[in-house]
Amino acid sequence: TFDHGNGPIGSAGAHFVLVPMMAQGHTIPMTDMARLLAEHGAQVSFITTPVNASRLAGFAADVETAGLPVQLVELRFPTGEFGLPDGCENIDMIESKGLVVSFMEACAALREPLMAHLRQQQRSPPSCIISDMMHWWTGDIARELGIPRLTFSGCCGFSSLVRYIISHNKVLENVTDENELITIPGFPTQLELTKAKCPGSLFIPGFEKIREKMYEEELRCDGVIINSFEELETLYTESLEQVTRKKVWTVGPMCLCHRDSNTMATRGNKASMDEAQCLQWLDSMKPGSVIFVSFGSLASTTPQQLVELGLGLEASNKPFIWVIKAGGKFPEVEEWLADGFEERVKDRGMIIRGWAPQVMILWHQAIGGFVTHCGWNSTIEGICAGVPMITWPHFAEQFLNEKLVVDVLKTGLEVGVKGVTQWGNEQQEVMVTRDAVEKAVYTLMGEGEAAQELRMRAKDYAIKARRAFGEEDKLCT
Ligand code: UDP
Repeated sequence: TFDHGNGPIGSAGAHFVLVPMMAQGHTIPMTDMARLLAEHGAQVSFITTPVNASRLAGFAADVETAGLPVQLVELRFPTGEFGLPDGCENIDMIESKGLVVSFMEACAALREPLMAHLRQQQRSPPSCIISDMMHWWTGDIARELGIPRLTFSGCCGFSSLVRYIISHNKVLENVTDENELITIPGFPTQLELTKAKCPGSLFIPGFEKIREKMYEEELRCDGVIINSFEELETLYTESLEQVTRKKVWTVGPMCLCHRDSNTMATRGNKASMDEAQCLQWLDSMKPGSVIFVSFGSLASTTPQQLVELGLGLEASNKPFIWVIKAGGKFPEVEEWLADGFEERVKDRGMIIRGWAPQVMILWHQAIGGFVTHCGWNSTIEGICAGVPMITWPHFAEQFLNEKLVVDVLKTGLEVGVKGVTQWGNEQQEVMVTRDAVEKAVYTLMGEGEAAQELRMRAKDYAIKARRAFGEEDKLCT
């Protein structure tokens, strides 16, 4: 519980309004939060849009079956008014970085319809807004309604980085050497990044005003909720509290709220393949023998890079599940897969085109390693699964998460990406060679001392994660 001046607000009996960013990596953990709040007696309004609501059908059906008071509130997303293609209601539908600013502006235009909706809720007026930090405009609504606004971030690393970079923007702008380490006063030194690895998406021309608004509203919010646990990110929680002077709650890892694979599978898009078949395939594999390769919902990979990655997996000789999100977009990749690759690896490789039931796969005992882009959800899902990782960051705060995994937790190996590849300064054709992939997979899945230590530490963090989530009810502290 916390007090906003008009008496304590707790989960029981309160009405929380959850406003996730329209991106899978932001919406998915918010569905977990909605579930947890509702399980603790709160009423939840989950703000979404028609296209996103259709992707949340599994979640909606789940909470209904469980009798949880979670209502999806669909607001019309003003695509046309902001020059966005029809139906472009999620960041993963944006084809060019030039549309990111329009997308953010369209989000901000939801302020009036959301306000109108909330004003109509006389029988159960909202008690608190929990908003993605990117939806800075929800600050106005909270003030007008006289209710608190908490922000929600995937991880401390991300929120710290965004806050520090925004507040010390000049530091970054004055650095001309892409490979120079950026030192920001107060920022944990273990997490210092080169400019080439700093989140390019924050530096898209036109984004400056949005960046400032986000930061301004961060400083005015009533507290910060982080999907992490203290033992994982103690250092960053402390520094975040110092900088923002806000209460920081670490309430995760929220993916652990799933007690069975049925609800786990409904967290995001519908899987593009038969889950039972996938489980059957995994059951037929030796424990810890399969490497899982997935780069989340947004990261884009060039066709050349996909081929190189495939050849590296083949050369490693280890069983694998490889999620190719953009495969269908590249006919040349499809041709290459069909021209011998799939036949050569058919006994030990499964390729999923589109959306995989990631958590279900990761938590299967056959999985022994995870090649990840280090999105925060994937990172924490991997930590909870107790599997060591091969880190292959692409953009945003992913390089920071890589540092956490490789240098601080020491539960992963880096594949060797040098800088941001998307929405950043350059788009390289092949960032990682097949040899680098082969070597990393071979090492991680092998029996060498280094691999055994990585495995041991990964298991240890999985135990800590479960303890953090199960020991006490963090949502009610
Ligand atoms: N995910 C999934 N299947 C896929 C791709 C992604 O279930 O094929 C889920 C994944 O488990 C995670 C989220 O989508 O919960 C992706 O979030 P993350 O922060 O890892 O990356 P982002 O997509 O934001 O880059």
